[in-house]
Amino acid sequence: MQRKTITIIGGGFSGSTLAVQLARLAGDQPFACDVHLVEPRPVPGPGLAYTARRPEYLLNVRAQFLSAFPDQPDHFRNWLRITGPAETCEEEFCSRQSYGRYLQQLVGQVLEWPSLNGIRCRWHNQAAQSVTVAPDGNSAVVQLQNDQLIQSDFVVLTLGNFAPSPPVTTDLAYLLHPTYHANPWARGALRTIAPDDTVLLIGTGLTAVDVLLGLRADGHQGQITAVSGHGRWPAAHQPSPATYPSFYATELTGLTTVAQVLGAVRRHLRASQAQGLDWRLVIDSLRPDLGRIWAAWPLEEQARFLRHLAGRWSVVRHRSPPRNAALLQEMLASGRVLQHRGRVQDIRPAADGLALTIRHGQQTQYLTARHVINCTGPLLDYRRIREPLVVQLREAGHLVPDPLGLGIRTDEHGAMRAANGQVSPVLFTLGPSRRPQNFESTAVPELRTQAVSLAQELGRRLQQDRNYPMPSSS
Ligand SMILES: Cc1cc2nc3c(=O)[nH]c(=O)nc-3n(C[C@H](O)[C@H](O)[C@H](O)COP(=O)(O)OP(=O)(O)OC[C@H]3O[C@@H](n4cnc5c(N)ncnc54)[C@H](O)[C@@H]3O)c2cc1C
Repeated sequence: MQRKTITIIGGGFSGSTLAVQLARLAGDQPFACDVHLVEPRPVPGPGLAYTARRPEYLLNVRAQFLSAFPDQPDHFRNWLRITGPAETCEEEFCSRQSYGRYLQQLVGQVLEWPSLNGIRCRWHNQAAQSVTVAPDGNSAVVQLQNDQLIQSDFVVLTLGNFAPSPPVTTDLAYLLHPTYHANPWARGALRTIAPDDTVLLIGTGLTAVDVLLGLRADGHQGQITAVSGHGRWPAAHQPSPATYPSFYATELTGLTTVAQVLGAVRRHLRASQAQGLDWRLVIDSLRPDLGRIWAAWPLEEQARFLRHLAGRWSVVRHRSPPRNAALLQEMLASGRVLQHRGRVQDIRPAADGLALTIRHGQQTQYLTARHVINCTGPLLDYRRIREPLVVQLREAGHLVPDPLGLGIRTDEHGAMRAANGQVSPVLFTLGPSRRPQNFESTAVPELRTQAVSLAQELGRRLQQDRNYPMPSSS
């Protein structure tokens, strides 16, 4: 019997946990299937988010919510207990590099040992450069950078987060300037900054907080300026993880406008305040249903949310560990970090670094700094992503960016929709690229659930082909 092939392109959290979930699928008969995990980094698992070797970069989610397995909520905490003091955690917030090691071990096990369900996984330490779909649309060939070809029945794109887009697109000369840092996550990104150099950060989100803490840990003493349109830093996590009862079923189901949902949320914020409860509990109670709230809005309401509320939402939803928030406050209070509101209009080389033009309402400000770091967050607009594989699939009409610039058009399983609207039987995606369907498709708690569902769906299709019984995840 011919074995089937699933090729997963990208071995960060999404691709690795998908491989692990495939290896755990249960079925009455073994799966005759090979899984190829394609990841060019030195090890599979950590991906972009959990690779940096900097203990000061903490996870922004408590360890109790970070198990790779939704059905085993203590899995990560147990791993920490077993692994012991080698891993760095500040209260319940561990370092991202610890989490990277956890993921590397999980995926390492399925790569090393054949799984009981017959699925065999192997890793290619390569980048994929193209995916060619067969003329009948039922299979595809993945070409790796070393020209190896993988004949595939299913291909899953798990490409994750891309470096931020340029903040100014008129005159791009600054992009080549040696003290402009286009990618804050690049290896050694801060190493060329001398202790007394002035630094300007574009953006005041979680990436900017990381950069500040990285500079602080490196002994940087110079003046730091942070510029953002909304001028807000991420809120801190509340000290203890209490809960607020969900009001989705009773008040939010089927609401089709942003204003209706906002009205209900505001009522609960007032009620929680009256009861002396923290506002963050109300926001967190929405989390399991955010995908359904988003999906109930027509496109123009989704666009309205992005225009008016997405910035505010990201501040209240994507929070800093309390330690990071306290260090940030200290740096702001001491004047080490100055803050400006406004949009960057122009960046150009100056005598000692770069000169920026910032606009806020009618006011224009001119700032200079030795180093400028783009901290505007990951680029997820697939209309603008220049990664060769994305360009190739986009030009072939297999990868269609959504009209709001959030990710890739898919069906509810993550199967990619072609330019003519048809759902591909071969191409799937998982991870931040699924934001058009779910909006919250960024953090571990959402992505691990997506990985389980997609593994089950692929298992179902593998068995359908062979008339095997339906699988379920063990
Ligand atoms: C800096 C940072 C910190 C974060 N911190 C947290 C956190 O604390 N908690 C949380 O819940 N979420 C966090 N996130 C959110 C993050 O989106 C998810 O947690 C998760 O890591 C996403 O995993 P991924 O596999 O989808 O993407 P990624 O981790 O970006 O992995 C994608 C992988 O695809 C590979 N790839 C790209 N192109 C190709 C190609 N052509 N061929 C083969 N491979 C390719 C890349 O090398 C990369 O390893 C963070 C995100 C970032 C960027």
